[in-house]
Amino acid sequence: MAEKFRNFIGGEWVEPTTGEYFENRNPADTDDLIGLFPRSGREDLERAVASAKVGFEKWRSTPAPERGAILRRVGDIMTARKDEIARIATREMGKVLEETRGDVQEGIDTAYYAATEGRRLFGYTVPSELRDKWAMTYRRPIGVCGLITPFNFPMAIPTWKMFPALVCGNAVILKPAEDVPHTATILVEILIEAGLPPEVVQLVHGFGEEVGAALVEHPEVPVISFTGSTETGAKIGEVCGRMHKRLSLEMGGKNAQIVMPDANMDLAIDGVLWGAFGTTGQRCTATSRLLLHDDIHDEFLDRLVERTKALRVGNGLEKGVDVGPLINQAALDKVESYVEIGRQEGGEVVVGGKRATGPGLDRGFFYEPTIIRGVRPGSRLALEEIFGPVLSVIRFSDLDEAFRINNEVKYGLSSALYTSDVRAAFRAMAEL
Ligand code: NAD
Repeated sequence: MAEKFRNFIGGEWVEPTTGEYFENRNPADTDDLIGLFPRSGREDLERAVASAKVGFEKWRSTPAPERGAILRRVGDIMTARKDEIARIATREMGKVLEETRGDVQEGIDTAYYAATEGRRLFGYTVPSELRDKWAMTYRRPIGVCGLITPFNFPMAIPTWKMFPALVCGNAVILKPAEDVPHTATILVEILIEAGLPPEVVQLVHGFGEEVGAALVEHPEVPVISFTGSTETGAKIGEVCGRMHKRLSLEMGGKNAQIVMPDANMDLAIDGVLWGAFGTTGQRCTATSRLLLHDDIHDEFLDRLVERTKALRVGNGLEKGVDVGPLINQAALDKVESYVEIGRQEGGEVVVGGKRATGPGLDRGFFYEPTIIRGVRPGSRLALEEIFGPVLSVIRFSDLDEAFRINNEVKYGLSSALYTSDVRAAFRAMAEL
């Protein structure tokens, strides 16, 4: 029998009122059932909001340095459990252990950062232009914050949202991505162990369109913080705008790495390999476009293809693996369809371009690291986020053209320029 996990609501681990559960399986081996997680509904959310309001009343009057001290203990516990948590995260998310260790480390760093902020929640005093008037600001918590997170950084992203909200005295409701519910469960266990008053945090598992949407629409949740796809963020933005909620959105990207002839080529090749194929390309800041100057285009690409062929695809829990699986079947189908689009648009697949097969790969969502050359600026492959191990190569002949190509996407997340010309680097800071 698979283990049944629970929500954390009202200071205890509880079953969903719906009585329904969904399966969480290892994307590297779908025979490996990690557990059943609550498919929560509106009633569960109502209970979570009611409890968070109780938690907020206790927490908002707790002195900020004391709140910070609890977060420091959270960081200590995460440090002690780092390897164990990384294994749990890799098993449900797929990326290699070294990366999930980094993911947990981000959570640890965020805990210590937030802990010290507990002593730095300063306000301003402002000289007033009126006599006998005192002008100042000071910080008060807002209330119950709804936090909705994606699958690709199962520990780091929930902590980025949660710890700052908590140190400022808010209560939180976390709705983690349905592909990575186990890591979120561990995070909440740690918060409680560290001494957070139980009702200050609620964990509500379930599907985005169901309990996620209900959280966004709830009138007693005045703050929403979301990280995920641009499409979902747009829907959430509409609701929050209509309801005058405070909203933070972090969404997609179509990031470029530009390489000039005067670049350190070894560094540039290492950068693109990690940028394009690390986390199996499932990173908001993944390098999805490689912009190569005419003078180095062919030689650079030859070397890059050789290095790409040497990458080992496999289960992220195994030693020596460089690239893990995609998160689920839908992601694999999406990557396949984009490679097909790339071919139809006239691009040439120079490495990869198909599902990865071989020993140990038949039950996971594996795709070969793929490079497509001859991608035209303005084509779909040059403009749309793929979120997989697919790199589109585009040529250019001068820096201004590279800046133009870089900037033609609707996203604005990250860009990189490899050059040894400091003037070009400083121009890039202004132009990209
Ligand atoms: P997603 O949008 O499919 O899901 C993100 C979260 O939103 C999940 O918890 C999901 O259940 C929930 N959700 C889905 N529909 C919802 C709805 N209608 N109402 C409320 N919640 C809903 O994204 P994903 O596939 O998990 O993550 C990948 C995306 O996240 C990529 O586009 C990536 O670029 C982006 N991302 C951005 C950053 C950043 O910092 N900018 C960081 C990581 C990931």
